[in-house]
Amino acid sequence: MFVDVARIHVAGGAGGAGAVAFRREKGVPRGGPSGARGGDGGDVVLVADPRLDTLLDYSYREHYRAGRAAHGEGGNRAGASGKDLRLPVPLGTLVREVETGERIGELLEEGHELVVARGGRGGRGNASFASPTHQAPREWEPGEWGEERHIELELKLIADVGLVGEPNAGKSTLLARATAARPRIADYPFTTLSPNLGVVGLSGSRSFVMADIPGIIEGAHEGRGLGTQFLRHIERTRTLALLVPVDDEDPQATYELLRAELRGHDAALAGISHCVLLTKSDLRPPDVPVSVHAPDSWGQFEISAVTGAGLQEALEGLWARVRIEKEAAAGPEEVDPLEGAGAWRP
Ligand code: GDP
Ligand code: MG
Repeated sequence: MFVDVARIHVAGGAGGAGAVAFRREKGVPRGGPSGARGGDGGDVVLVADPRLDTLLDYSYREHYRAGRAAHGEGGNRAGASGKDLRLPVPLGTLVREVETGERIGELLEEGHELVVARGGRGGRGNASFASPTHQAPREWEPGEWGEERHIELELKLIADVGLVGEPNAGKSTLLARATAARPRIADYPFTTLSPNLGVVGLSGSRSFVMADIPGIIEGAHEGRGLGTQFLRHIERTRTLALLVPVDDEDPQATYELLRAELRGHDAALAGISHCVLLTKSDLRPPDVPVSVHAPDSWGQFEISAVTGAGLQEALEGLWARVRIEKEAAAGPEEVDPLEGAGAWRP
């Protein structure tokens, strides 16, 4: 099971109360006030942890409260502060307040921290209220309550498979057909730089994340920089599918162009394996086979996102390849045992 959104309730620890006390010393008949302040309550802090890649843990438990502080004491002994509660979350976790939808922050890099609920401040003890005209104060303050709120954690999926093709190659249509995503399908050669992601579900609850990554090719011509958000996707992408429509005037030339653009564009991209997806097979007359010469690719599939022909085989092939790449990257001992059971990770 994969959980990419979790809602939890977080509460900072309560602050300690201030004390009311007076010094009692030998030979000092009326000692001054000595009640110290209470400690501050602990904060709830989210910490980006690269060892995690799901929010699964947060679906089992709802309430998280940091440590409460100790009360102040006499003899000017301040109360001890409450312990912070540090909650590890995977990199790429976005945090929002549930009620308002307000964005609290995002944890992108290892060690990033985000306070999501502050502890209450400790109250002042009576020693703080002393003044020349008020030498035996009995005032004190209670500790404040810690901040409380409902927050939503959201982990953006990172693509296992990136779709690369010229405008109108059929990326959006394939994504819509193969995943639960509902990308915008357009007849005009225009795409945004925001990747469309979806989860491809296969039998046996196997799945992988596929992304339409427009902008690699379209943007390359203009030398447009890729956003960091986008680069994160590419870095984690396990394999690429290069889309070549069968009704292209020169499929081989289109393939070569995509290859050249990838190579020229980004070092991170050049090292990623790829396959060829011949798209729109329904537009090809049955007796005119199309293929491209692609010795560097790990496979070639012909599909129609409209009729669904060849689609299953291509998706199975992609899934198998993603597995291979993950194992190669992680080393066998680091592969999640769940994956063997067909679960997938972002
Ligand atoms: P993108 O620019 O790569 O995202 O391409 P789109 O998915 O928007 O598709 C461009 C055009 O090709 C649209 O008009 C689609 O309807 C059409 N198209 C996509 N896949 C197929 C297919 O398998 N068969 C046919 N006949 N048309 C397709
Ligand atoms: Mg598109």
